[in-house]
Amino acid sequence: MNILFFGPNGSGKGTQGAILKDKYKTPHIESGAIFRDAISKGTELGKKAKAYIDKGDLVPDEITIPMILDRLKEADCKKGWLLDGFPRNRNQAVKLDEALKKAGMALDIVVEIILDREIAKNRIMGRRLCVNDNNHPNNIFIDAIKPDGDKCRVCGGSLKTRSDDQDESAIGKRHDIYYDTKTGTLASAYYFKDLAAKGGKMKYIELDGKPGVKAVTDELVSKL
Ligand code: AMP
Repeated sequence: MNILFFGPNGSGKGTQGAILKDKYKTPHIESGAIFRDAISKGTELGKKAKAYIDKGDLVPDEITIPMILDRLKEADCKKGWLLDGFPRNRNQAVKLDEALKKAGMALDIVVEIILDREIAKNRIMGRRLCVNDNNHPNNIFIDAIKPDGDKCRVCGGSLKTRSDDQDESAIGKRHDIYYDTKTGTLASAYYFKDLAAKGGKMKYIELDGKPGVKAVTDELVSKL
């Protein structure tokens, strides 16, 4: 299964993505996580990406597109992949589509979580990351996934915040990019939505992101 996952920052994309990853046993390829890992290891890629990420800007396409297309060629992606955080603009969507066609690969499922900008912003500011596993959901503003005191509700691990999660202007910029239907992330989602509407086997699934995590998961599972 080759899957793309769209949703604004704060829509629960990581949580729902993890469910798909487990169901289809695909690697979960998260562009943001690749950058954060590179930054923490102090690699060249990390050094180049950090300034953009701290400001809430996109890392330039010249860096991001080859990084992701190379990642999809690795051995663990042979049987499928779940891509999350990429494509983030229309150009990345076009380049991904071209690269897939060239490699004789097809997209099977595209998921879009639909959520209001204001709700998404509040959710981001409440998000806490577990030091043991990024996929452990913790959010101080969402009752269903409230941390256990200051510890991870899943494993009891310590929690931290992402610096770009607490910066309103950076969140605003990330959402400007996401909600831009002309050249931004929604434009890239709609690029694939248009392709799906033209026929073929690709399934485009829209999910309402407003209800709690479990309800969104149920909707997702029912539509797969
Ligand atoms: P995320 O974890 O998806 O919120 O990504 C964190 C940051 O990494 C973003 O705000 C961007 O600066 C950068 N980033 C992640 N994915 C991409 C992408 N596809 N293109 C450009 N920059 C990206």
